Amino acid sequence: MDARERLRTYLEQRRELGESEFVLDGMSVEEALGAIDKLRSPQPTRVQARPAPAAVTQTVRAVPTAAVMTAPPAPPIVIPRVGERVTDVHAVEGAKEPHADDEAMTNFKQGLVVGNVNGTLFEQNPFHGVRTLKALATLVEDCTRCQLYKTAKNAVPGEGDPDADLMCVGEAPGANEDETGQPFVGQAGGLLTKILAAIDLTRDQVFIVNVLKHRPPGNRNPQPDEVAACSPYLVRQIQMVKPKVILALGTFAAQTLLDTKTPIGKLRGAVHRYYGIPLVVTYHPAALLRNPAWKRPTWEDVKLARHILDSSKS
Ligand code: URA
Repeated sequence: MDARERLRTYLEQRRELGESEFVLDGMSVEEALGAIDKLRSPQPTRVQARPAPAAVTQTVRAVPTAAVMTAPPAPPIVIPRVGERVTDVHAVEGAKEPHADDEAMTNFKQGLVVGNVNGTLFEQNPFHGVRTLKALATLVEDCTRCQLYKTAKNAVPGEGDPDADLMCVGEAPGANEDETGQPFVGQAGGLLTKILAAIDLTRDQVFIVNVLKHRPPGNRNPQPDEVAACSPYLVRQIQMVKPKVILALGTFAAQTLLDTKTPIGKLRGAVHRYYGIPLVVTYHPAALLRNPAWKRPTWEDVKLARHILDSSKS
């Protein structure tokens, strides 16, 4: 069986399993099958593409993965060179610029800088003395620092590899998470799992948390006093996991971590710094479920995160 036949068989199997669209691509399984059929007919002669203009931009190639193997090749991400900053930069005094040895990092558009790596935030944290993620989770389970514990069924401290290179930060538990005590287990969670798979990561390999550890009733927006009460847990989790990249999922997580009101559209596409840790912003998986057109930009965001992870290994 040639590669095309194998691909067709694979897609037909996926369709039988109920899958109708690719995770991070606008193409449906039906359309892909149609495209394979079209490939059987003779191809028109290709017009030679004009060479790109002189290197004003840095390009990063798609990470080839099984999950996207069947999608048409993604265009390269175009990352403006250093010096282009997102608007509303509010560098905290004394904050560390990207490490000199982080050469790969300087190729990315630099975003907001929050916190000083050697800053006092960590020492001022009421949970600074808590030594393990497990011990912290127990404190979260018993937490009464705001009112949310009264209406929630379970606390959702977060879970994953304590030594994860990637930390995903969402907003707050929803109904499914409240039932189970685990983050991102509903429909949005299913999509997050697929997004991670697209950059060759399983849920077990990352650490998944939310800004809030208890569900706001009826999924209402988190209130400032709740965020203030809950944030020290997240700060301590970040400090203990020491991820190489933080992936902020959605407006709320991004704006909270970066301490800004800048819209998500402007925060995406740059490498921000959270206490020295590279932070990439992307759309919330729940928003993707409502706006499939955001899957492509999300794919670009997670490729950027993947690229930083890969750069940090070499
Ligand atoms: N949305 C979030 O932000 N977090 C979850 O855990 C689930 C849905």
